[in-house]
Amino acid sequence: MTDADKYWNPILETLPQEKLKELQLRKFKRIFEWAYHNSPFYNGLYRDAGIEPGDIKVFDDIRKVPKTDKAMMRAIQGKEPYPYGSILSVPLEQVTEYRQTSGTTGQPVYHPETWQDWEWSAESWAYILYAHGFRDTDRLFIPFGYSIYIAFWAAHYAAEKVGCEVVPGGVLDTEARLLKMRELKATGMAATPTYVLGMADAARNRLGIDPAKELDVRRITVAGEPGGSIPATRKRMEDAWGAKVYDHAGATEIGHWGYECQAQCGLHINEALHLIEIEDIETGEAINEPGGRGSMVVTTFDRLAHPCIRFDSKDVIEWSPVEKCECGRTFRLLRGGVTGRADDITKVKGVLLAPAAIEEVVRAMPQLGDEYEVVVTKRGDIDSIALKVELLPESGAEIDALKEDLARDLRAKTNLRYDLEFCQYGTLPRYETKARRFKDLREKE
Ligand SMILES: [Zn+2]
Repeated sequence: MTDADKYWNPILETLPQEKLKELQLRKFKRIFEWAYHNSPFYNGLYRDAGIEPGDIKVFDDIRKVPKTDKAMMRAIQGKEPYPYGSILSVPLEQVTEYRQTSGTTGQPVYHPETWQDWEWSAESWAYILYAHGFRDTDRLFIPFGYSIYIAFWAAHYAAEKVGCEVVPGGVLDTEARLLKMRELKATGMAATPTYVLGMADAARNRLGIDPAKELDVRRITVAGEPGGSIPATRKRMEDAWGAKVYDHAGATEIGHWGYECQAQCGLHINEALHLIEIEDIETGEAINEPGGRGSMVVTTFDRLAHPCIRFDSKDVIEWSPVEKCECGRTFRLLRGGVTGRADDITKVKGVLLAPAAIEEVVRAMPQLGDEYEVVVTKRGDIDSIALKVELLPESGAEIDALKEDLARDLRAKTNLRYDLEFCQYGTLPRYETKARRFKDLREKE
């Protein structure tokens, strides 16, 4: 047994579902009681709702506990104990790390970690790396400056726990990172889908390096955007790098709660550390049946400074119809990972549109580049949606025929008609972490 093997925990990861539920109820009671007694924010929330620790007796009682969301977190922060406000559940002296959320909209949420919480964060990430097949023989390159954001710090510490050799590739620019990866024969990488594609593009076009043939990366872990679970995007990444790409999911306030295993039959929820509920986006009803889709409500059991209890993350997820994964884990599966955010789903011409659906169509067309841009505007009373794509220089495609194919596939997938524009390769914006390819310029009512 190597160091890495302790991140395969058959005692927890193969527990029968009934046993897991018992464990989750026990852990839920414990974090609820902790927050009730130690966080003035949670104490006030629960007193107002008339619920206290003794009221949680059976699993279904959990749904009586009021939900929280990001707007609440923003409202309480910036006050004493500064800057976290009354959610902080430990003395400020015990906080050893500051982090903040990296979302693309709104004021960031501040996140405190105690030393123990930080250990937990890195531990939970180590299960991801192990499930993706990283071992102590890997040299993992992390092409980011981690700064005030949590994700890649946790990846770094987790990789050490698994026994990988970690190369922190921050500060360097993209070309320098690629050259360093080649020089060191890095075998793995952790990045957002946008940057995995962007690096491959830079390697080919700026350095004349074919990553699939000239670099040694064979395993890539991605998160932060839906791409890792969108088949067309995953295929582009795997072809560009000659590597296997594995998705996982997490967020600053929640921790890293889901991961693919090497069987790749969906995203396993780490149910030993988190409780994930799915609720109907409009009615708030609990959704439990396979194929059911809705907004994610998450509880994180063991992180104490900034408890996360029934947090409505607005991520859109879907229960998988697969009940038993061949990897042996009994942790429940989601189909298609995090497919988008409830906030991103928008009505255009009266039709509900999830931006990830456009990505699926664009990236399934081999004649098109990886980048695209969607702009929704309003002319008079009528919505209009424009899509810009890049034509690959070597594609030799007939624009008119391609335009027709693209329009047809978009219509089939999203029920909408688009103004299509083919741009010269390399002219659309490139992004380093999370991309902003969807722009809604309509006035909000
Ligand atoms: Zn599995």
